[in-house]
Amino acid sequence: MVVTYHRPTRALIHRKAIEKNIKQEIERLPEEVELFAVVKAQGYGHGAVATAQTALAAGAAGFCVATLDEAIELREVGIVEPILILSVVFPSYLSLVLDYDLSITVATKQWLIEAQEMLADIGSDLPLKLHIKADTGMGRIGFLTPEEVKEAADFIQRSPNMLWEGLFTHFSTADEPDTRYWEQQNQRFKKMLDVLEEKPRYIHASNSATALWHKEFPGNMIRYGVAMYGLNPSGHALPDAYPLSPALELVSELIQVKELPAGEGIGYGETYITPEREWIGTVPIGYADGWLRKMQGFSVLVDGNYCEIIGRVCMDQLMIRLPHEYKVGTQVTLIGKSGAAEITMQEVADHLDTIHYEVACMISERVPRIYKE
Ligand SMILES: *Cc1c(COP(=O)(O)O)cnc(C)c1O
Repeated sequence: MVVTYHRPTRALIHRKAIEKNIKQEIERLPEEVELFAVVKAQGYGHGAVATAQTALAAGAAGFCVATLDEAIELREVGIVEPILILSVVFPSYLSLVLDYDLSITVATKQWLIEAQEMLADIGSDLPLKLHIKADTGMGRIGFLTPEEVKEAADFIQRSPNMLWEGLFTHFSTADEPDTRYWEQQNQRFKKMLDVLEEKPRYIHASNSATALWHKEFPGNMIRYGVAMYGLNPSGHALPDAYPLSPALELVSELIQVKELPAGEGIGYGETYITPEREWIGTVPIGYADGWLRKMQGFSVLVDGNYCEIIGRVCMDQLMIRLPHEYKVGTQVTLIGKSGAAEITMQEVADHLDTIHYEVACMISERVPRIYKE
């Protein structure tokens, strides 16, 4: 999709907010613990490269991404710090992994065997940097028992073209008030650490929620994701450990304003009929921008007023009810502050019955990301 600059709809990304969120976290960390900024999925919709550069300036020591292409994007703009790919990369792509000096995740023995064969074919002098993933209860990827982890570690250490760089796990309930399952996962991870005679350079288990709410987290690195963007990982469930500053605002402008008499239909299927004489504004954002049809009935802000989205959201436009006439070009805030009012990403998520992570990712590529100092 082409990025559409010649239209007033934009996501404003506040670098200062990202910087502040990271700095506050680093201040709390024990000296030996490094912060890796998680910039997968285009930096949770905020833009991967700009977010990574901002994170670096704020003190991040490395980066985590989900895919090989995301890692390559960061290298191509000159980022030289460690980059870990959190998901599985098929062994057929290993020459790219070596070329770009990336660290990758190993989650099964079969993968190790295939990777070894591939590395023999490639014949590179550089060792493949590997982080062993332990599945302690997420049920997604990883080795399940201390014996399997030990076996994988031995395999890597015996292979001259592999380097054992890390061991990690991922918590599934770190953002919940009930910490029992977190404890269970933590105990399993400890048992895995206990059977190892040697330890790799990085041991890590903390996503944002673990870093924020589990002071006793294991390891010497954290994978700091959603909190960097100023979003509370738990939604409403737990209070901010420190004030988080949201980094993204979504704004547009009125492109048409009109007064309609009672009884006029608005949008496809005339699901809204003006009950009385009303001022209607049209905003150039729609479901192709990620502002889903389910947003009908939610509000946007105009001049500090909540204005309801009426009628169905179209692909590229939507209509709102205005309290009175406004000029074409008046700012419309879909996420962010306007006057004394604010619409948060969490409120959008609540309306959609989902989490803000999904809202951040759903703002489509058509919406330009504009970076503010
Ligand atoms: C996405 C992800 C993270 C970051 O999680 P946040 O909740 O955004 O902090 C950390 N670790 C893994 C394995 C992930 O997939």
